[in-house]
Parts: sequence; C-alpha cells; structure tokens
Amino acid sequence: MRFGGRVAAVTGAASGIGLGILRRFAREGARVAALDLDFEGAQAAAEELGGDGSAMALQLDVADGDSIQAAVDRILAAWGRIDVWVNNAGIFYVHNIADPPDMENWERILAVNLTGMFLCCQAVTRPMMERGSGSIVNISSIAGKMAFPEEAGYCGTKAGVLGLTRSLAVELAPHGVRVNAICPGNILTPMLQSVDARICAEEGWEPGTHLEKTAQEVPLGYIGQPEDVAAVVAFLASDDASYIVGQAINPDGGLVLY
Ligand code: NAD
Repeated sequence: MRFGGRVAAVTGAASGIGLGILRRFAREGARVAALDLDFEGAQAAAEELGGDGSAMALQLDVADGDSIQAAVDRILAAWGRIDVWVNNAGIFYVHNIADPPDMENWERILAVNLTGMFLCCQAVTRPMMERGSGSIVNISSIAGKMAFPEEAGYCGTKAGVLGLTRSLAVELAPHGVRVNAICPGNILTPMLQSVDARICAEEGWEPGTHLEKTAQEVPLGYIGQPEDVAAVVAFLASDDASYIVGQAINPDGGLVLY
C-alpha cells in the first residue's frame, strides 16, 4: 500500500478524472478528501470509498480562497496532515476570437483553472513545508502544450498551469515538497462527452461520432479512461517518484511527445 497512513486531497473529485484519482488513492491505502463545488457528488464519492471513516467530502470552490482555506483546515483538524494535494478541478469553454468578447467565461476560466490552482497551492504549502514533505500534482492538459482553435481560455490557462508548476517546483523542492503536472489527452469523462455532444449537434452527426474520429487520431487508437490518468498521478505523488520535480507527463496515448 503506497499511501498507507497518508492523506490525499483531490479537487474536482465528484466526477471524471478527479473521481478516478480519488478511487486510486483510496485503493492504495490513503485517507481521501473529495473536494468539489458539487457537494452531493463529492458526498457520493466519499460514501463509496469511506465506509470506515477514511474518506470525507467537503464543498469547495477553487475560485474562492476562503472555501479553500476552510477545506484545508477541516482536513488538518480531522487527520492532522495532508501528504498529497491534486489540483484537478477545471472547466472548459470555446469562443471564436472574432465574436463579441465573452468576458464572463474568460474571467471564470482564469479563476477556476489558474488562479484557483494558485490559491490551493498557497493554502496547502505551509502545512506541507512544516512537515518537510508533500506532493502537489497539477492537472494541465495536452492543450497546455499544443494548440486548438477557439480555445484561447482553455489553452492559455492550461499552459499557465505548466509555468506555475515549474516555478513552485523549484521554490518548494528545498522544503521537501515536490510539485509536478500531468497533461492528459482525450479522457472519457462528462467534460469530453459534452464536447462530443456539442460538435455532433453542430455537424449533424450521430452522438459519439466526434469521439470516434478523435480516437482515430490517437496513436494508440482509443480514448483514455480516468484510471489512465489516476495511475500517473499516484506514481508522481508516491515515493517511487521521489526524485521527480517540476515535470509534466502526458497520459495521452501518444499524441504529444514532449
Ligand atoms: P469533469 O467536468 O468531468 O469534472 C470536473 C469536476 O470539477 C466536476 O466534478 C466539477 O463539479 C468540478 N469543478 C468545476 N469547477 C469547480 C470549482 N470552481 N471548484 C471545485 N470543483 C469544481 O471534467 P474532467 O474531464 O474529469 O476534467 C478534470 C480535469 O482534467 C480538468 O482540469 C480538465 O481540464 C482536465 N483534463 C481533462 C481532459 C479530458 O479529456 N477529459 C483532458 C485533459 C485535461
């Protein structure tokens, strides 16, 4: 059990990749905190995993510093430590730059995907530094490394996650805290399914057609599952990765090779 006796907190844990990560840490022996805007979803996840009190659910909006601090305080009060913090909560939207400005969505994606991650790192850094150990894993995307049209907000924030990760990585490594990032490719979650639904509606295709076309572009030939990401997160958070700092690893079936 790589995480026996340890505590792992995951933002956006009610759905998709975050839920997969939460399940992975629980399976490997961690006490887990499911943190999400969707409290009912977080509660369902915690109930699934924590019949013995080894899982808790907390409502948190990563765009709200007070709710982040409250969540950190609650976890520390209950379990006395946070060994792993996974910044997974994220949102997506598309906007054609020639269309009228869409400042509401732009501000929200910055607040959730980038500022929220910064605030979470800030809140969890001190307790980790005080213990002289900890691992933070930030979920970026292949969109942080390559370009997609009409995704300036998403690509911009996901690239920002990589810069934030590298800076914090070298700042916190001397304190025993490792910070790394993950850049998933196409992973079957509600977020990707909503992209498929939108594009299929626009193109007049059967639902699922966009996913099939996308899979054909992946060198491995299929769409990934949350578990494919969770396995890499668990590795980076574990002692197996004790000499890995500031990296951005792509579980993407071979789409991006750097
Ligand atoms: P999802 O929509 O299935 O789940 C996202 C979760 O985050 C939801 O439970 C949602 O309630 C929560 N959330 C949203 N805003 C929040 C906020 N302000 N505070 C707290 N929680 C909030 O999405 P997913 O596909 O599982 O994506 C998870 C992460 O992985 C995101 O950061 C996303 O950008 C990234 N990602 C996804 C894919 C993919 O193909 N699915 C690919 C690359 C990166």
